[in-house]
Amino acid sequence: MDTHHNAPLAFVLDEARARYAQARPRARDVHEAACHHLPGGNTRTVLYHGPFPLRAERGEGAYLFDTDGHRYLNLLGEYTAGLFGHSHPAIMAALTRAQAIGMNLGAHNLAEAELARLVTQRFRVMERVRFTNSGTEANLMAVATCRHVTGRDKVMVFDGGYHGGLLYFGGGGIPINAPYAYVVAPYNDTEGTRALIEAHRDDLACILVEPMLGSTGCIPAQPGFLAALREGASAIGAKLIFDEVMTSRFAAHGSAVDVGSAVGAGDDTPSEALGGGALAGVAPDMMTLGKWVGGGMSFGAYGGAADVMAIYDPSREGAMPHAGTFNNNIFSMTAGAVALRDIFTPHVAADLHARGERLRAAINAIFADRGIAMCASGVGSLINVHAVAGPVTTPRDLANSIDEAKELLFLDLLERGYYIARRGFIALSMVITDDEIDGFLEALSQVVDARRAALPHGRR
Ligand code: PLP
Repeated sequence: MDTHHNAPLAFVLDEARARYAQARPRARDVHEAACHHLPGGNTRTVLYHGPFPLRAERGEGAYLFDTDGHRYLNLLGEYTAGLFGHSHPAIMAALTRAQAIGMNLGAHNLAEAELARLVTQRFRVMERVRFTNSGTEANLMAVATCRHVTGRDKVMVFDGGYHGGLLYFGGGGIPINAPYAYVVAPYNDTEGTRALIEAHRDDLACILVEPMLGSTGCIPAQPGFLAALREGASAIGAKLIFDEVMTSRFAAHGSAVDVGSAVGAGDDTPSEALGGGALAGVAPDMMTLGKWVGGGMSFGAYGGAADVMAIYDPSREGAMPHAGTFNNNIFSMTAGAVALRDIFTPHVAADLHARGERLRAAINAIFADRGIAMCASGVGSLINVHAVAGPVTTPRDLANSIDEAKELLFLDLLERGYYIARRGFIALSMVITDDEIDGFLEALSQVVDARRAALPHGRR
């Protein structure tokens, strides 16, 4: 491989940033004003990018409109929570119904019972489920549950794992993580992980893992890796938690043909084979959810075997309290039920999965045909573009990724009306049509052709 940094990259990136800034004077003003009240004008780190962040005014269907009159096809899909686009009619109707029911009921309501029925029916590992307000909270609760029921204290996580603002293990972990005793294992390194499980066999409470590393770049678990975690956890009496906050949208099996037959073409039978763990044929002890499962509202959920979750049964002597003013808020519960029951049926999930597989293959073909040392990884509708030739199977494979090349792509795509994450992440939403995907691929081809000299070269 003859990958090399191209001299013009820094130059063209400066020029692209300047063009971005010049075309968005209002966004700059709003940002400068916000900096007086929010640190760096920001309350959600992942959205920040220089020279100042894109400022959304509104969204409609698959499109985002910024404060300076630009329209973008939204391929970021709210980091997977925006599965239904910005204004899906069934979600809008659900929210209107919720409004009519009344906010802040402060009582058990009908919607939470229905959503729990639907969640446990689709994700069979969750015999019983509890709702939270975010994926972060769901993971914190799942870990706390496992530590309590095992009476052990250590928590195995993976380098590059992201489970929320207080559970981030990029570069080994951040100083503000929840203060548990972590054992940080190497993702997709089965032997290395086995050895660590063995070394901590007496005090490991749980293994918390994403079936595909999402935030660190859509790096799927290699065949056999999740099964080895299952085996290792069972052997030492630890619990296995799958964080499926992102991967719960995956349909059964890897290919379009298999997916279609797995859920029965034209048949919306609820399938336990949804989610990244199911994709690998491995069942965890506990599972966490978030994002789309709340229909686009604030949401999280954790669950597992009925006997484990029974510790939260308030009718029992010595029950563990689990609080949360908004756990059963009527908007999340109502929108989530509609999302699961009426919109994102297993068959729709299978279709989106297949469309994502095609999109990822087409992006890779654009890079490969032009000899550009970039690639796209992922599973189904979740894709990450990297500025390395690939393949990308562990976070270490991204050590030489050229961040500026991804920024250039991001800025150039914005200019052509396509919004992806600055880090190269794409979460295809179900409202994006095949024609719109073709338009995106055409725009990407144009960008790569125009910036050929500035992008890294080389073949696998
Ligand atoms: N777990 C995974 C795998 C995620 O990708 C995220 C969010 O991106 C979370 C947990 C945290 O969810 P939330 O942002 O709702 O707290």
